[in-house]
Amino acid sequence: MKLDGKVAVVTGAASGMGKSIAELYAKEGAKVILADLNLEGAEKVTDQITNNGGTAKAVKVNVAELADIENMIDTAVSEYGTLDILVNNAGIMDGMEPVGEVTDERWDLIFDINTKGVMRAIRKALPIFLEKEKGVIINTASTGGLNGAHAGATYGASKHAVVGLTKNTGFMYAEKGIRCNAIAPGGVETNIASSMKNISEFGASRAQLAHAVMPRSGQPEEIAQVALFLASDESSFVNGTVVTADGGWTAAF
Ligand code: NAD
Repeated sequence: MKLDGKVAVVTGAASGMGKSIAELYAKEGAKVILADLNLEGAEKVTDQITNNGGTAKAVKVNVAELADIENMIDTAVSEYGTLDILVNNAGIMDGMEPVGEVTDERWDLIFDINTKGVMRAIRKALPIFLEKEKGVIINTASTGGLNGAHAGATYGASKHAVVGLTKNTGFMYAEKGIRCNAIAPGGVETNIASSMKNISEFGASRAQLAHAVMPRSGQPEEIAQVALFLASDESSFVNGTVVTADGGWTAAF
């Protein structure tokens, strides 16, 4: 068991990659807080984990709300005594239009969820990690956070910001035993991916071009394996970087 006795918080754990990450972490011995806006969905996954002998608890969290983020980390400590692994995975794949069509309201909402929520969770978890001089942070970015072709202006910028935050956090706290890395998934078959059909006509033509060269779409379980490696001590010298998991998609650009 690679995460035996560790305490992990996974956001967006009711579905897709977050669900797979929570399930794999529990299988590897971690006690997992499944944080999601969709409490019912998170509870379903939690039930499956506990039925399989794992330890897990669901918490309703809107990552755009500071009080929810703080409660999420506090719950990990009150339930399981500490926090070892923070996975900031929740996000919305919205904001696929080019900058000329961006509204301030959509920009703020997407940044609140995809970016500010990540910063706030890290900030809240840091004192726990600093006290024991050990901690792991994993942020779900996107290949849209690495190039201009896989996403629209707002989504792309929100995920580029996650990459920047990841690098700075990894660098600033390396001496304190804290590692912070991001995963940049390519197209993965989840609920979110199906919403890609709803992007604007301009975005769709760009996205379709990019999709034309995508070798294949990924499965959430394939991303969970990357998240397991980054959470375990096997990645002890991997810090402040982005692991792309896209089947070679980005390599085509
Ligand atoms: P998903 O829709 O299956 O899962 C996302 C989960 O996040 C859902 O359970 C949803 O309820 C939750 N969520 C949404 N907004 C929330 C909020 N405000 N507070 C708390 N929870 C919230 O999608 P997924 O593909 O598994 O997405 C996970 C992450 O992966 C996202 O950050 C997404 O941007 C990123 N991503 C996805 C793809 C892809 O192709 N699927 C590619 C690159 C990056």
